[in-house]
Amino acid sequence: MAKNTDLDGLNKENERILEDNENIFWLQVDGEKKLATENLVPGNQVYNEKLVKIKGIEYRTWDPFRSKLAASIYNGLDDFPFKIKSDVLYLGVSTGTTVSHISDIIGNTGTVFGVEHASRVARDFLDRVASHRNNIVPIIQDARKPNEYFSVSKKVDIVYVDIAQPDQTNIAIENCKMFLKNNGYLFLVIKSRSIDVTKDPKKIFEGEIKKLEGSFQIKQVINLAPYDKDHAIVIGQYSGCLLYTSPSPRDRQQSRMP
Ligand code: SAM
Repeated sequence: MAKNTDLDGLNKENERILEDNENIFWLQVDGEKKLATENLVPGNQVYNEKLVKIKGIEYRTWDPFRSKLAASIYNGLDDFPFKIKSDVLYLGVSTGTTVSHISDIIGNTGTVFGVEHASRVARDFLDRVASHRNNIVPIIQDARKPNEYFSVSKKVDIVYVDIAQPDQTNIAIENCKMFLKNNGYLFLVIKSRSIDVTKDPKKIFEGEIKKLEGSFQIKQVINLAPYDKDHAIVIGQYSGCLLYTSPSPRDRQQSRMP
């Protein structure tokens, strides 16, 4: 193979950009094609991912075994609405693996509001991720109570839900009613075993998708195997809810005023 002389350092002929989709990158790293994002905080590693410098720019490889959003891209996601300046509401950030890549993608002109209710993982998320990145607003709250997220200041372009709860679809819908722009995107991770271990995962996915059909145009359903067994991600575009819209915290406050 011809040596690539544009790369930083010596003997890096294996590391190069194969595809650049503006916000996500496919790199050739150690003979393998790997997904990556441009590191918003150069030198900062979140989960021991590989940092690769090409033409003076640092990228973080994005592991599909550690992030379901990355797995969905490896498995053929058609539309990737996460862009520079996007605003995102993310339910279930855990220690921040996936949210750190979203933060890379949206850059400092976008915002990701990251909700997590478990205090131990939330502490790791704050120390390892949120405290290093200005575009993340941590919200240590229960996703079942969206009217208590006082720091979500605007409607968002994307709601991403990965909370592994039996009632996660209803939680997702309630959060979208309050915070998702019309025509915005919902990314809903469905873990069939969190809903019913005894049922065929395919039947569970179908049942959850049915709940979304009134308010969302279903764009794609992606099975996440082999990266995550019995998981699917559903992508829906929000058509708004004509019947009932939950009032925002400000509306609630005003309606209580004499
Ligand atoms: N999305 C993460 C990632 O890709 O890096 C992994 C999320 S993990 C599967 C699910 C997370 O959702 C856990 O950290 C859990 O504490 C959180 N969670 C579950 N129920 C929740 C709720 N009702 N409100 C907020 N967070 C919740």
